[in-house]
Amino acid sequence: MPLTNVQARDVQSLLHPYTQLHKLVDTGPLVLEHGKGVFIYDTQGKEYLEGMSGLWCAGLGFGDEELIEAAREQLSRLPYYHLFGGKGMEPAIELAERLKDIAPMPVSKVFYTSSGSEANDTQIKLAWYYNNARGKPQKKKIISRVKAYHGVTVMAASLTGLPGNHRDFDLPVAGVLHTDCPHHYRFGEAGESEAEFVERIAGNLEALIEREGADTIAAFIAEPVMGAGGVIVPPQGYYPRIVEILKANDILFIDDEVINGFGRTGNWWGCQTMGFTPDTISCAKQLTSAYVPLGAVLLPEEMYQAFVEQSRKIGTFGHGFTYGGHPLGCAVGAKALDIYKSRDIVGRVRGLAPQFAARIGRLADHPLVGDVRCSGLVGGVELVADKASRRSFDLTQGVGLACAKACEAEGLILRAIGDTIAICPPMVISAEELDMLFDRLETALDTTE
Ligand code: PLP
Repeated sequence: MPLTNVQARDVQSLLHPYTQLHKLVDTGPLVLEHGKGVFIYDTQGKEYLEGMSGLWCAGLGFGDEELIEAAREQLSRLPYYHLFGGKGMEPAIELAERLKDIAPMPVSKVFYTSSGSEANDTQIKLAWYYNNARGKPQKKKIISRVKAYHGVTVMAASLTGLPGNHRDFDLPVAGVLHTDCPHHYRFGEAGESEAEFVERIAGNLEALIEREGADTIAAFIAEPVMGAGGVIVPPQGYYPRIVEILKANDILFIDDEVINGFGRTGNWWGCQTMGFTPDTISCAKQLTSAYVPLGAVLLPEEMYQAFVEQSRKIGTFGHGFTYGGHPLGCAVGAKALDIYKSRDIVGRVRGLAPQFAARIGRLADHPLVGDVRCSGLVGGVELVADKASRRSFDLTQGVGLACAKACEAEGLILRAIGDTIAICPPMVISAEELDMLFDRLETALDTTE
């Protein structure tokens, strides 16, 4: 099909992120025009059920009038200011207070960023600064995991454990170590129970720390339920073992709640669903339901006090973004948190989770499906070439992408992560719309080759 005018203009002028660039020139992009609730519409007027909340972020769906009004109100009052050098703004204060109220551990201070990548990048700088401040300048390495996704800045992409994010970008940088991915279906050995798998990979982490030296390792970073690595829900008992090892070695646990945070897994935070308490948190995405770019780092008093002492010694705390604490983002974030509470979004997710689990579970019988997994309203469907041996497709076959395309033809937007189809609908989805999503996915799977 020849490209439409708008597609041709797009291809002429845009470098698209995370895109097979050589194919886009011929196919052109799907150009979206407006959205309402869980639906989004392209420039031809075709309707799609948006089953990914964009990029796991528009948790309140599209066109929410309360969020739009909060944005309009803040833009007309004070469209921009910053927090540098001791300036302040009511929306930044208000959102920080609310984040502290709902945090899963005692939080002393909130530091704002514009994205999840910047939040994770900040976490690493702060962990280094903290260890310098407390007289442990050798303690600097960071442990992440295979298949982790933590963003795209130089450090966040280094923490990410996906080869495609490193290859030809000359990453990861030195000082970043990757330990096992806690995915029993893919990495469990033949006949190994989940409990044995947890013990084996916990043992590998201990061995890694011993090999490198605990006094050289600052932090471990993890998403509670792993998202962009393929929606991986770690086995029971995994996090308690990890926390035990980190505590014994004085290593910070940085919890990346960029996807999990704000109700997605049926609790405010993924760490609550997975049963652990971190030292610090990164959040973004659903913080504003993605209506405005905003990220945040939540910090304990102990780290803040070390920063204050360091400032006394060396002067200004030298880190901050022009848009950190942007009043528009903070006003919309505070409104989003209000809505999560007033519409009991966590309760909604819990209410819909059994239906989500039952419908995704049904897909396990499909001949193309090797594994299904989910938590709350996020799930993954892994397509395989051979169910019995769990053999994956050759990735160059592009079966995942073909399935996502088939979904698109059915009026459903989902995301292919390799050959895993990710599902992460707006948390305001109704039971009927959730059934529609899975009905369309079932039809798409039947037409995927
Ligand atoms: N951390 C996690 C867990 C993510 O899923 C993402 C993005 O998908 C990021 C960090 C990076 O966030 P951003 O794209 O806002 O930089």
